[in-house]
Parts: sequence; C-alpha cells; structure tokens
Amino acid sequence: MTGLSDNHPINYLRISVTDRCNLRCAYCMPLEGVAPLPHDEILSYEEISLVARAASELGISKVRLTGGEPLVRAHLSSLIGMLARIEGIDDLSLTTNGVLLSRYARELKAAGLKRVNISLDSLQPDRFKQITRIGKLEDTLLGIEAARAAGLHPIKINMVVMRGVNDDEIADFAHLTRENGWHVRFIEFMPIGGQKQEGKFVPISEIMERIEPLGVLKPHSLDGNGPARYFHLPHAKGTIGFISPVSEHFCFKCNRLRLTAEGKLRPCLLSDEEMDLREPLRRGASADELKRLIKQATEAKPEGHKLDSGTTARSRSMCQIGG
Ligand code: SAM
Ligand code: SF4
Repeated sequence: MTGLSDNHPINYLRISVTDRCNLRCAYCMPLEGVAPLPHDEILSYEEISLVARAASELGISKVRLTGGEPLVRAHLSSLIGMLARIEGIDDLSLTTNGVLLSRYARELKAAGLKRVNISLDSLQPDRFKQITRIGKLEDTLLGIEAARAAGLHPIKINMVVMRGVNDDEIADFAHLTRENGWHVRFIEFMPIGGQKQEGKFVPISEIMERIEPLGVLKPHSLDGNGPARYFHLPHAKGTIGFISPVSEHFCFKCNRLRLTAEGKLRPCLLSDEEMDLREPLRRGASADELKRLIKQATEAKPEGHKLDSGTTARSRSMCQIGG
C-alpha cells in the first residue's frame, strides 16, 4: 500500500484526545459545555497509538494533539511517549489553552513533545475572562513562560479575532512579535457547530491593514506545515501568521486528517463526513485493515467548503472535532 494521496500529499494528523475542557470560550463551546463522552467511548492511548502507527506507514509524519483541552486528559505524557516512539512521526506538537502548561511543560518535553501552539485571545485580564468565561489570563501567561523554559519551541500564539470583542488588540499582539519574539497567528472566526458570527467576523485582509502602521510586513519562510501564511515586521524576532479559512479557501492545499476523541476519522474539519475507526479497533482489526480504512476516508476528502456562504458542519462544536 502506498501513501495517502497521489497528487496532493496528506502528511498531517490532528488527534483530539478529549472533548472536555477547563474553559468555555464563547466561540467554541456553549456556556454549559458539551455533554462529555463516557470514558469507554473515548479511544484509549493504545488505540490512538495504533491509528497513528498505521497512518505513519501511509506517510503521516506530523501529529498534533488537540481537543477539547488535551491537558485535562490524565497522563497525556504517556501518550506523547508512545507517539514519539513511532518511526516516521518526526513532528509531534500540541494545541492548548496553556492553563495547565506550567504544571506539565517539562514532563511533556521529556516525553518527546516538540512544540506547542497556545490559544490566547486577549492580553487584558477582564476581557480574557469574558471570552473564556472562566479562565484567568495569568494562568495562560504562566503556561507560555513554562513552555519557553522547557524548550517547547517555536511557541505559536493563536488569536481568534472577533469584531467588537478583541479586534482592538490586533496591534498589541503584532507588537509582541517584536517585543517578546512571539510567533503570533491571527485566525478568522469560523461559524462552526452552529456558532453565529453575529457581525464579529473580521477578514484577514482587514487584520493586515490594521498591522500596517507598525511597519511593512515581509514574507517569512517559517514552515508551519499548514494553511498559515507567515510574515515579519522590521526588527521582529517573532513572526506573524495569518489563517483565513473563511475569506480565502485553502482546501486545495489542505494536508490534514482529523481523528476525534471517540475514534472518527474526519477528512475535513468543515464536512460532517466521518469514518468510524473505534469499532474496527475494538474487534482487533489488523494494521492493514486500519490502513485501508484510513485510505478510504482520505479519498472522501471534499474539494472545498462553503463557509463564506454560511454553510458549515453543524453536527459538532469545535471542541468536539478538535479544532
Ligand atoms: N483547547 C485547545 C485550545 O484552545 O488551544 C485546543 C482545542 S481548540 C478547539 C483549537 C483551536 O481552535 C484554538 O486555537 C481555538 O482558538 C480554535 N477555535 C475554536 N473555535 C473556533 C472558531 N469558531 N473559529 C476559529 N477558531 C476557533
Ligand atoms: Fe476549550 Fe480550546 Fe474550545 Fe476554548 S477553544 S473552549 S480552550 S477547546
């Protein structure tokens, strides 16, 4: 069996390890949270590892753990250790809200984690609390510092820009690429899982315009393995990335698959098409059968999405898919 796609390489697997979260970001989760999956419906670390191994044999070389909040799942570093030992996986990373990083950064690094992306949508304590509903800015800032001290770099900061909520902080975040050498990525707000944008959407073109007064943005070669386009401001050690899932389709260069916490393989974030891997895993499917199923799911990858016309995957929240 050969790789996952002949003309367009699929080499990136995002694995959601839990649908639970210690925050309730308004753009991602309902206030009451989502009904958590019973523990036995979630893939075990051994099962995740079997899928990752089969995927790596098909050419997946980059794996990112996400959620929900991945650090709320117990003993995550043992999964990191299992994945780090799989030959062929050369980039192992984590997306987190950072709240628990000050506790776990060193342990994760020691287990084989390479780097982290940390979500941070405001530098103002009251506003941070309002967006996350229950979070404390200080916890995430301490988490960023702990990740830096543990050597989990490059650290990328993800900011979802929302009009009237945090768009007045665009320049402050961009400025941090100079002041602190942070790598900041601005992400367009997606209407996902039934979320209403309610006028909050800000296109990347406007975000770029708001950064212009800080200096000319020069293209940068940072390899993000994904849809972000990277730039840097004059004299900045850090970079600025732009991710525009709504205003500029990048489906044609999408290189990723997603595995949900309960074992559904999703070829596209924005389509409800899924392939169940949990049932085959639990009846003892061979590695070859897993590879055949992964390949079959990949072939169902759609050509594009219709987010800009408001059509989107409705069945799940972002925290349930693994954003
Ligand atoms: N809990 C972790 C975190 O917040 O980084 C990982 C899971 S979270 C679902 C992954 C990413 O999805 C975060 O960077 C978050 O900001 C982003 N996200 C969630 N809902 C979104 C939305 N409606 N539009 C754009 N990005 C969204
Ligand atoms: Fe939790 Fe991340 Fe969703 Fe915020 S964006 S509610 S931290 S899963």
